[in-house]
Amino acid sequence: MSKVALVTGGTGGIGTAICQRLADNGFKVITTYFEPEEQAKAWAEAQNFDVDLYPCDVSDYESCVHMREHILADHGRVDVIVNNAGITRDGKFTRLTPEKWKAVMSTNLDSLFNVCHQFVEGMTENGFGRIVNIASINGQKGQAGQTNYSAAKAGAHGFTMALAQEVVRKGVTVNTVSPGYTGTDMVMAIREDIRDMIIDGIPMKRLGKPEEIAAVVAFLCSDDAAFVTGANYAANGGQHMH
Ligand code: NDP
Repeated sequence: MSKVALVTGGTGGIGTAICQRLADNGFKVITTYFEPEEQAKAWAEAQNFDVDLYPCDVSDYESCVHMREHILADHGRVDVIVNNAGITRDGKFTRLTPEKWKAVMSTNLDSLFNVCHQFVEGMTENGFGRIVNIASINGQKGQAGQTNYSAAKAGAHGFTMALAQEVVRKGVTVNTVSPGYTGTDMVMAIREDIRDMIIDGIPMKRLGKPEEIAAVVAFLCSDDAAFVTGANYAANGGQHMH
């Protein structure tokens, strides 16, 4: 029987590549959508792999409880979680509003608690689980204009390390992947002249491809990665090394 992989925000740029890669590797892939149902269904129909869709706002605990009930009713369990859903609400700190701060913290950090809390007990009972949290280069090095995003993404790896220790003897691994700038809507929304400056600052002189991030995630979800836990894998074209 296929292992069940839940990818949050699978309809986005990096999420789509992760869903594709996990499906190629034999997982039963399910994903959340936040956008209107019609849009999510159109996305699913356009893919060349099977994917089940569940509505969920990962920033909202009750919404995640409902998602769990639906997923467990349909699939019985979740073996893999990729916490990929995320947003940016950039702004210089002095002009950052409490709303922008809270939106980024709840979607990018509270979500790890909200989603993992639904399934970790099941994973430890089954003696198997893979959790991958998608953070960011800007959680590792900080980024002006992103105090909210940098804090949430740095927090994500703290969450990874702590949870990894709690479940280390139960067959469950927890890791972080920190992508650098990757060619998705999130980055294409940045003003072109600023984006060009960003690319110039990447030693490889290009954006990452969603597939390149997905490949790292897929490794961490595989049996080959059984001895890897609490780690933070960077994939950033050499822009930040530590
Ligand atoms: P996209 O904007 O393309 O996709 C984001 C996804 O998250 C969408 O599917 C979106 O759903 C979903 N989402 C947003 N808010 C919620 C919510 N409250 N509940 C459920 N789902 C939600 O982003 P990317 O693919 O670029 O980014 C994916 C991850 O990678 C993010 O965590 C991001 O921070 C991280 N990252 C991205 C980098 C990049 O350069 N692109 C670099 C470093 C990290 P919907 O469309 O329905 O709103």
